[in-house]
Amino acid sequence: MKILVMNCGSSSLKYQLLDMENNKVLAKGLAERIGINDSLLTHQAEGKEKVKIQRDMKNHKEAIQLVLEVLVDKEIGVIKDMKEIDAVGHRVVHGGEYFTDSVLIDDEVIKKLEDCIDLAPLHNPANIEGIKACQQIMPGVPMVAVFDTAFHQTMPDYAYIYPIPYEYYEKHRIRRYGFHGTSHKYVSMRAAEILGRPIEELKIVTCHLGNGASITAVKNGKSIDTSMGFTPLEGLAMGTRSGSIDPSIVTFLMEKEDLTAHQVVDILNKKSGVYGISGISNDFRDIENAAFNEGNKRAMLALKVFAYIAKKTIGAYAAAMGGVDAIVFTAGVGENGPEMREFILEGLEFLGFTLDKEKNRVRGKEAIISTEDSRVKVMVIPTNEEYMIAKDTEKLVKGIK
Ligand code: AMP
Repeated sequence: MKILVMNCGSSSLKYQLLDMENNKVLAKGLAERIGINDSLLTHQAEGKEKVKIQRDMKNHKEAIQLVLEVLVDKEIGVIKDMKEIDAVGHRVVHGGEYFTDSVLIDDEVIKKLEDCIDLAPLHNPANIEGIKACQQIMPGVPMVAVFDTAFHQTMPDYAYIYPIPYEYYEKHRIRRYGFHGTSHKYVSMRAAEILGRPIEELKIVTCHLGNGASITAVKNGKSIDTSMGFTPLEGLAMGTRSGSIDPSIVTFLMEKEDLTAHQVVDILNKKSGVYGISGISNDFRDIENAAFNEGNKRAMLALKVFAYIAKKTIGAYAAAMGGVDAIVFTAGVGENGPEMREFILEGLEFLGFTLDKEKNRVRGKEAIISTEDSRVKVMVIPTNEEYMIAKDTEKLVKGIK
């Protein structure tokens, strides 16, 4: 079975074509600047050079048409006919309280996705547009929606209800939803597989540390708490997002800097986090270089703040689960940043692990980085959201065939 995985942003579209017989990525790529000038498609077929195609893409439909054209191209393509694509798996950011798992897309599902636009005004419209465009271009091909929020729908009410008037939950659906669910689910499942133990018996803290960052408590295979909340702005300090701060700072800044509420939230989303503290970059490589090689104090402070909040969150989730068996690092910094992992773990040894500094040098590969005799295992597991989306799609589509 060949599955096309789609991740549509407001002006971009990431795709992967996977062959589920051998779990191989046949091709992948990115369409950028959709609906803007100078649109660009970068495509890479397995084992071949990357190709860049500059062509106007006015909307997602034109972008998807170009992707399909490239996939069947004699030179740079990987399939002979569009009909070889058995199903499409779409990444959808917000499923609200409607979806606790991935779902086959029909009209009813699309209505519910539209109803969630309020909750994810930047993301869901692009996701829906991508789905509708695919349906038009590939009629009859089954489509599946895989949600960033679904994995976290198992949280108990006392973890997802905010201590604000309850009527706002009832009226406006304000609650913790959590994001990066596909990634947290994937790495927790892989952790159990690598450890050779049933996930139903494990307490795992998964740390997805990329430009966006979140930590999840996965108890017996279920998310019971996660650091992102009503939006992806809550929780850890991130590349450019502030994470959790005192909400009164918003009104204070509005008054002192003569800003609107939207402007302040924009600052919290785009100009804060390690970028805001360091004043250098949102890329941890730049910040680490400035801190370790140039003695830049604000860069060092940004790293310390990031690590400290992550450390506290890991401790909090060990408390929430009544213990921990494994701590997993994933995403850009989690997979590739030994220094940051060491920063975060320093002082957490009381949980029951010793970091093996030699093993911790690993980058971008699955590894156990705690010592052999550690009761709690610390692991690096590269995330693979596309694979997870394709797997869910395969499962649901096989069910109807
Ligand atoms: P992601 O959002 O998962 O793609 O992660 C992107 C972030 O990972 C970048 O902003 C970098 O800061 C970080 N990153 C990637 N490679 C490295 C590396 N080798 N060392 C430290 N940080 C890295």
